[in-house]
Amino acid sequence: MADDADAAADYQRRLNEQALADHRLAGAGGSQPGPMMICGKPYCRECGERLPAERLQAVPGASRCARCQDWLDKQNAVERFRV
Ligand SMILES: [Zn+2]
Repeated sequence: MADDADAAADYQRRLNEQALADHRLAGAGGSQPGPMMICGKPYCRECGERLPAERLQAVPGASRCARCQDWLDKQNAVERFRV
């Protein structure tokens, strides 16, 4: 009887690990450049807001809106400064 509970917990744990692995693949940028496409429309990978056409014209294949990219650039600059 304890075995059933253990098996269920084990199954749940494996599901969580799989979901985490999928999430890491989907996110983390880099591996898959470009905006997130939903119903053929581009969305920012960071905040999920719709990317305006002007943004993609200015930066073809942009993954994020100008606001998120700006924020990310600042974060990266801070990282570089720290190292
Ligand atoms: Zn954004």
